[in-house]
Amino acid sequence: VKRVVLFDVDGTLVLTGGAGVRAMSRAFEEVFGIARGFDGIPMAGRTDPLILAAAMTRSGIVSDESVLTSFREVYLRRLAEELHQPALRKGVLPGVSELLTALADRQDVVLGLLTGNVSGGARLKLEHFNLWHFFACGAFGEEGADRNALVPVALERVEARGVRVASPRHVLVVGDTPLDVECALSAGARAIAVATGGTPASILREAGAEVVFPDLSDTQTFLRLLAGDGNEASDSSGK
Ligand SMILES: [Mg+2]
Repeated sequence: VKRVVLFDVDGTLVLTGGAGVRAMSRAFEEVFGIARGFDGIPMAGRTDPLILAAAMTRSGIVSDESVLTSFREVYLRRLAEELHQPALRKGVLPGVSELLTALADRQDVVLGLLTGNVSGGARLKLEHFNLWHFFACGAFGEEGADRNALVPVALERVEARGVRVASPRHVLVVGDTPLDVECALSAGARAIAVATGGTPASILREAGAEVVFPDLSDTQTFLRLLAGDGNEASDSSGK
């Protein structure tokens, strides 16, 4: 039986040291002529289109398709530059490379992305940290402003690769915010949370995560999650 593991990007796999925010802000200023367009706009766990729409609404900018396209082009150019800037909180998070390597070795696991990043942004970020090659497919920000809409999209991608997903309980959604947990639960999937993105473990647990890891360095415990469907009496909390 195949298991599908869908990873969020920012705060879950990597920290970009603010590169994403800086690139969004620079693009906003270049395209709309407004500085600090994203100050105070919540970003964690939200999709790029939702974040952009909030910033545009606040600045009184009317959205249209050509403006959104040029914003995205400028954003991706600036992101490629900003990813090379040195920063304090920047890098692959603890245990991520080891966990992805272990999962990629398993014949019964399909690795995918479920991220609010637009696909070009996710790719730039993960290529920068040499993680992009792990992922067979994914669902991205341009495919739905509502994160909850992205789990079914990701599963369609997986099934398009000839993998039958027998039950949503065979799908693990791994993320660092309550919105990641919510999108998993809304699809009947298993919500696995990690507290490396700034949201405290207690908040992630309250949101309904089945397991909350302090970081992803406990590869063996993560791999043991794959054996079940999350409905067993849980002995994985508090370890
Ligand atoms: Mg995140």
